[in-house]
Amino acid sequence: MIQYQHSLGELNSFRVSAKAEAYLALERLDQLALLSDWRNRPNYILGGGSNILLAGDLPGLVIHNQLKGRRLVGQDQEFVYLEVAAGENWQELVLYSLANNWAGLENLALIPGSVGAAPVQNIGAYGVEFSEVCHLIQAWDMQQQRFCKFESTDCQFAYRDSIFKSLYPGRFIICSLVLKLRRQPSYRLDYGNIREEIGDQPLSIRAVAEAVMRIRRSKLPDPKELPNAGSFFKNPLVAQEKLEQLLAQYPKMPHYRQVDGRLKLAAGWLIDQAGWKGKRMGAVGVHERQALVLVKYAEARGQEIVQLAEAVQQDIAQKFGVNLVPEVNYWP
Ligand SMILES: Cc1cc2nc3c(=O)[nH]c(=O)nc-3n(C[C@H](O)[C@H](O)[C@H](O)COP(=O)(O)OP(=O)(O)OC[C@H]3O[C@@H](n4cnc5c(N)ncnc54)[C@H](O)[C@@H]3O)c2cc1C
Repeated sequence: MIQYQHSLGELNSFRVSAKAEAYLALERLDQLALLSDWRNRPNYILGGGSNILLAGDLPGLVIHNQLKGRRLVGQDQEFVYLEVAAGENWQELVLYSLANNWAGLENLALIPGSVGAAPVQNIGAYGVEFSEVCHLIQAWDMQQQRFCKFESTDCQFAYRDSIFKSLYPGRFIICSLVLKLRRQPSYRLDYGNIREEIGDQPLSIRAVAEAVMRIRRSKLPDPKELPNAGSFFKNPLVAQEKLEQLLAQYPKMPHYRQVDGRLKLAAGWLIDQAGWKGKRMGAVGVHERQALVLVKYAEARGQEIVQLAEAVQQDIAQKFGVNLVPEVNYWP
């Protein structure tokens, strides 16, 4: 049933108060047919709310994906194919894969949110991205009012991006995914200090996931204790020429070469260098240990976080000539 003037305060990890004009808890696929009246209105597909910033009340319909279920749909010598409904919790899926000894998700442990949101920004952590385990995505097309399927190659997965995020926000309600998980692990240990964290424990996917979880818990503020949406900005990509200019001034600036020849800079390093780490603007601020994370210390409107983000963006543009783009989705 559609509810009107629904409060979203408990449904986003910044715990910002805002209302949706209309709200539907999507628990069954047959509810999708009821959405045709809303196809020409703004609509917002909500999962765990850990990558959104509610900048104000939302006109239109919020579709809160709570579809549940998972089942094995195929297997061969190398892979198992696991279908998972979009409303399942990502971390529970990671734990389920570990319990079955299926590899591929161990580096992506403890990322908050739902399974259905994972393809949207092609979640990534510790050297692994969602695209590497994606086999198939099944979605409801709000415009055409029908189901459709996307193979991994259709999704234009890129760094924190896909067609669902940049080309068609709000159009496709991802209903389920088929993941391709390995029977034999292919370890990725060279990112961050996973190797050091594992130490002399026997190597296993569980040991990797536990190391990742320990590192994450020590570095990132828990949104339940200090509301936040994880990394607020994407790491910027620059051309070689720009990097050389920056290195002349900041020889220690971290940078990572990408396959397309561009260089990825660390947004957190830039924000830290510019003196923002630990700074507050009223009830919101830049986290004391993680400059890439904006946090809400006390009751605040979404607009206050927007203003802080804009102040950081302007300062970084002025000091380094680099544009920071939010990773977090602003609604509306
Ligand atoms: C502490 C913390 C740490 C984080 N660490 C990481 C990290 O390491 N790596 C990383 O990549 N991200 C990270 N994030 C960001 C976030 O966890 C991910 O982006 C996650 O996938 C968001 O899931 P969600 O269900 O909360 O999505 P929501 O915030 O509800 O939605 C995010 C976007 O996905 C869309 N969406 C959600 N569900 C669907 C669906 N079923 N169909 C279509 N569109 C949908 C929404 O419309 C919105 O645009 C972190 C966040 C926090 C708070």
